[in-house]
Amino acid sequence: MDDPLDLTALGFETRAIHGGTGPDGVSGAVNTPINVSSTFKQDAVGEYRAFDYARTGNPTRASLEANLAVLEGATFGFAFASGMAAEDAVMRLLHPGDHLILPSDMYGGTFRLATQVLAPAGLEVETGDLDHLGDLMRPNTRMVWIETPTNPRLRIIDIRAVVEVAHRQGALVVVDNTFATPWLQQPLSLGADIVVHSTTKYLGGHSDVVGGFVATNNPELADRIGFLQNAAGAVPGPFDCFLVQRGIKTLSIRMERHCSNALAVVEMLVEHPAVATVLHPSLPGHDGHETARRQMRAYGGMVSFTLGGGESAALDVCQRTRIFTLAESLGAVESLIENPSRMTHASLASSTSAVPADLVRLSVGLESADDLVADIRQALDSL
Ligand SMILES: *Cc1c(COP(=O)(O)O)cnc(C)c1O
Repeated sequence: MDDPLDLTALGFETRAIHGGTGPDGVSGAVNTPINVSSTFKQDAVGEYRAFDYARTGNPTRASLEANLAVLEGATFGFAFASGMAAEDAVMRLLHPGDHLILPSDMYGGTFRLATQVLAPAGLEVETGDLDHLGDLMRPNTRMVWIETPTNPRLRIIDIRAVVEVAHRQGALVVVDNTFATPWLQQPLSLGADIVVHSTTKYLGGHSDVVGGFVATNNPELADRIGFLQNAAGAVPGPFDCFLVQRGIKTLSIRMERHCSNALAVVEMLVEHPAVATVLHPSLPGHDGHETARRQMRAYGGMVSFTLGGGESAALDVCQRTRIFTLAESLGAVESLIENPSRMTHASLASSTSAVPADLVRLSVGLESADDLVADIRQALDSL
């Protein structure tokens, strides 16, 4: 049987492993070859086969793009050199004078890009509470940016509810799906227009590649994003594409374990006397718990907490763990710990989105749950 599989009818794991790839027609290789060619032969002037020049497109990138698109339930997918490059391409869909609404809690780099790169180019950028989006909308609002769960407070935004308000006046809804991954939630199926990713995180999954991705079902938006990808040229190299796709093959099994390990850590944190608050959507007392139950398959591998001892206790804990490594980034096999106000979110310091100084953020990895729980506990016990 040489008919291509109809992947859309198949399960998530099957799509993750077979999407965009298949035994190579020439060699039979079961993996997508890393095709390093920067240019491709034309049969006559202007008559090329699938590819002409590797910034515009190349076979390894095309394989990743098809793979990740099918996981997001998208018709169109575009790989970028980083999550920020993907976000930049999406924000450039707007024009000077357009109003962009961002959540008040978000990845620091998103805030920096919007306020320090795109606002000077003429965009009106505003942050606010998307639970009250109606109050933020203006006649010139053209895009509403969602991150859910948010970074680092792990707030949950109701994607359907935002879509309903934004679409009343034709504003685009973009979801940064980096924390959730398509395994936990598929925003296009909830009405969002565009999904963006930092593939550096869970999709790559091994802290060994930086990349970004944009997915959409809207052909007109796809044309414009494809144009920007080629015209501005922030594309990933073939080896990076290979690494992301290699990560995606094990996404579902990794996410399952990230989520269950995170639950074990949360269970210990809520009982520990040194901890003031635990932020995780699995907790019934969490503001977004009900929305998360509806919109996500599980609650994710990111956990944040604050300490009774304030900032100095937070900095101490970050220094005392032995398995959790003190580092930025998230979503990989190894567990990481950080203090967002001094590290990932320093660019928000003087803004209304500033992060509490005593917040500690964990990216719970795939080590033994018992070892992870014991590691955080000993760091807290010694405060
Ligand atoms: C890391 C991250 C980004 C930026 O991605 P890079 O690959 O580092 O450029 C964007 N959004 C979220 C939620 C992230 O965690």
